[in-house]
Amino acid sequence: MRFDILSLFPGFFASPLGESIIGKAVKKGLIEVQLHNIRDFAADKHRTTDDSPYGGGAGMVMKVEPIVSALEAIKGPYERRKVMLTTPQGIPFTQKTAKELAELEGIIIICGRYEGFDERIRAFVDIEVSIGDYILTGGEIPALAVIDSVARFIPGVLGDEDSLRTDSFTRGLLEYPQYTRPEEFRGMRVPGELLSGNHGLIDRWRRKKSLKRTLQRRPDLIESAELTEEDRALLGEIKKELSGGA
Ligand code: SAM
Repeated sequence: MRFDILSLFPGFFASPLGESIIGKAVKKGLIEVQLHNIRDFAADKHRTTDDSPYGGGAGMVMKVEPIVSALEAIKGPYERRKVMLTTPQGIPFTQKTAKELAELEGIIIICGRYEGFDERIRAFVDIEVSIGDYILTGGEIPALAVIDSVARFIPGVLGDEDSLRTDSFTRGLLEYPQYTRPEEFRGMRVPGELLSGNHGLIDRWRRKKSLKRTLQRRPDLIESAELTEEDRALLGEIKKELSGGA
């Protein structure tokens, strides 16, 4: 899968794309990331990419022409691709969005800066995403979040693809608590179920903890989670336990 990034600061990406799982995915050719400096597409001699807003107001606005010229210059060897705008006004970027985007052959990601973009850029965009209800100084961190989370769905990127099945959000719930050696640390013991070697017991324990954690931390997720009859029974048990019942 190919990612094309349009940014005023392409140097921002060097280290994150060279390290760890994503660095290996790039080296193995499982993902390709092409960086494009928006300034290279500015037509005037000063290579201007931003200007003051019509109507006045704080800060600068990114100009439409350099970004559209950059979009038109990128001719990837793929057909199924989307142009993405990073913006706090976009749809919330979720695990579900990441999974759907991983089906594409490519994504072109536009990173904003300053006060944002000339509104007319939106006419050239397929999807607008926000990575949360806060304001960053630029779209580079959102672009990295998108690349990282989408890449995890590309076969071969994760060492153990079972993670995708158990990760938080995959089935609409938060993941269960995890432990590793030692069995005891400062009086805190690893739960007996995990040491039992009984896979049925371990699976039930994990599912129950996953439901409980989601209910306590993100009750909004329970509403839309895919729950089985057994899950509903477990939720009943959890609610009883939490309310001090038997
Ligand atoms: N004035 C803009 C607004 O209120 O919508 C915010 C501009 S922000 C300082 C500059 C750029 O950072 C944005 O154009 C966008 O590309 C990126 N950005 C900032 N926060 C973001 C978020 N939560 N999600 C996605 N992109 C974000």
